[in-house]
Amino acid sequence: KKTITRLPDWLKTPIPAGNSNLNKIKSDLRGLGLHTVCEEARCPNMGECWGGSSRSAATATIMLMGDTCTRGCRFCSVKTSKTPPPLDPHEPENTAEALARWGLGYVVLTSVDRDDLVDGGARHFAETIRKIKAKKPEMLVEALTGDFAGDLQMVKLVAESGLDVYAHNMETVEALTPYVRDRRAKFRQSLKVLEHAKAVNGDGNIITKTSLMLGLGETEAEVVEALKELRKVGCDVVTFGQYMRPTKRHLKVEKYATPAEFDMWQQRAMDMGFLYCASGPLVRSSYKAGEAFIENVLR
Ligand code: SF4
Ligand code: SF4
Repeated sequence: KKTITRLPDWLKTPIPAGNSNLNKIKSDLRGLGLHTVCEEARCPNMGECWGGSSRSAATATIMLMGDTCTRGCRFCSVKTSKTPPPLDPHEPENTAEALARWGLGYVVLTSVDRDDLVDGGARHFAETIRKIKAKKPEMLVEALTGDFAGDLQMVKLVAESGLDVYAHNMETVEALTPYVRDRRAKFRQSLKVLEHAKAVNGDGNIITKTSLMLGLGETEAEVVEALKELRKVGCDVVTFGQYMRPTKRHLKVEKYATPAEFDMWQQRAMDMGFLYCASGPLVRSSYKAGEAFIENVLR
């Protein structure tokens, strides 16, 4: 099989020029001690997410519970250990305080998986959300969690913490899940996480969301099947992005989906009844999440 070495043109992004809004946010952030995935992953969407169409739509992704994961997915470059350092008990308060001062409109809280903790970190997540909402009720909060090893009580704890969006990423289609994700992650288990998060807040106030990567070798039929399963559990939002190989030790890219294919998947998802769908080569699950929420849910 031929190895793909050159990046297609649509993935070569220019380095964002001095966006004054962006630079201001960056310098504010330095004083706040927050770890954003946006900066640490040098995400190419920072201009669009942080700059936003307005301050109230500005989105950032914050990493909770440290930088070391107990799992080892084959597409992910996060550090792995069976025994990561203990949680910082002040993190919920400090994060909420810093976010309130930063004043952005939409925050995505995510974390590594912490299978070493009895509650998988669910209480820490929930406490952070409650504290953010206490300090700044108008801030929209999305939690992007792991699967809590299938412990639905933990999903409930997070889902009842006052958040606006519960996200859990399927990452790939069912057939590829054992090769792509850590062996403890299961396609069906992840569907249950999304189903439960939706059921907990039965009044329909909570939006559930997931993300799929393209380019891992999935077939069109498998993607359609995954979308059908997601609709069956009431998942509201789906995003599609291109899988990018972080290092040579990670899974190789089987295919670069074209911008037209990403558009096609967005259309398919909308036709299947998803509330909205962000789809594009550089889209990440949190891509312009604030703007999308304001346009599609609050309206
Ligand atoms: Fe990376 Fe998440 Fe997998 Fe951990 S669980 S290895 S952070 S994708
Ligand atoms: Fe940050 Fe996500 Fe936007 Fe990238 S896509 S800049 S990680 S919020």
